[in-house]
Amino acid sequence: MMKDDPETVRKFFAQSCDFVLAASEPAHFPKSELPEIAFIGRSNVGKSSLVNALTGRKNLARASNTPGRTQQIIFFNLANKLMLVDLPGYGHANAPREVQDKWTGLVNTYLRKRENLRCVCLLLDGRHGAKNNDLEMMKFLDRSAALYKTVLTKIDQLPASEHAARITQTSAIMEKHPAALAGIIATSSDSKAGIDELRAFLLEKGV
Ligand code: GDP
Repeated sequence: MMKDDPETVRKFFAQSCDFVLAASEPAHFPKSELPEIAFIGRSNVGKSSLVNALTGRKNLARASNTPGRTQQIIFFNLANKLMLVDLPGYGHANAPREVQDKWTGLVNTYLRKRENLRCVCLLLDGRHGAKNNDLEMMKFLDRSAALYKTVLTKIDQLPASEHAARITQTSAIMEKHPAALAGIIATSSDSKAGIDELRAFLLEKGV
């Protein structure tokens, strides 16, 4: 497969993508040989929209603020070649301690134990860059030793004149984090900016 050919990349992501299951505890994680790419970010960062844009679906990944889905890890099978994994969002204001602890246990187990995990995409809101809880998340990912790539979302909402500054500022933060991969991908699920670039990266990392 010519992974750097744009047409190949597009065809790969145009294949069928199916919901596998939603796991609320590690015992429910599917047994799978497929390479995995996981997505994580603050709730409302645009994670569901991004998974939908990548796979060209409108409703594959539902908004994570749907009650009851916030504490689940959702697995999607892309053409029996790649598993896309939607990790529960963080940063819910006033979440009770037990909910936070459950989140930490579930995500930590996933990040540390999932043997086929190739890369985590850490989503940051392009309008604001990294917030405090995103910085905490970076440390959490560093400790889990899962490699992660930084993806800016909603870049259509940031004036074009500010794109370069946001990327420079975010890169400077990422350089301090040992498990962060170099390079930032700026995306918009609305304008589809950066979607092909992110697809090419996932194909390169995952398959
Ligand atoms: P999640 O909670 O991280 O899964 O976030 P969602 O995908 O549900 O998106 C949260 C809100 O941001 C929704 O109102 C989306 O329509 C909006 N949104 C998501 N991605 C984009 C984007 O690329 N551009 C713009 N302008 N809005 C977006």
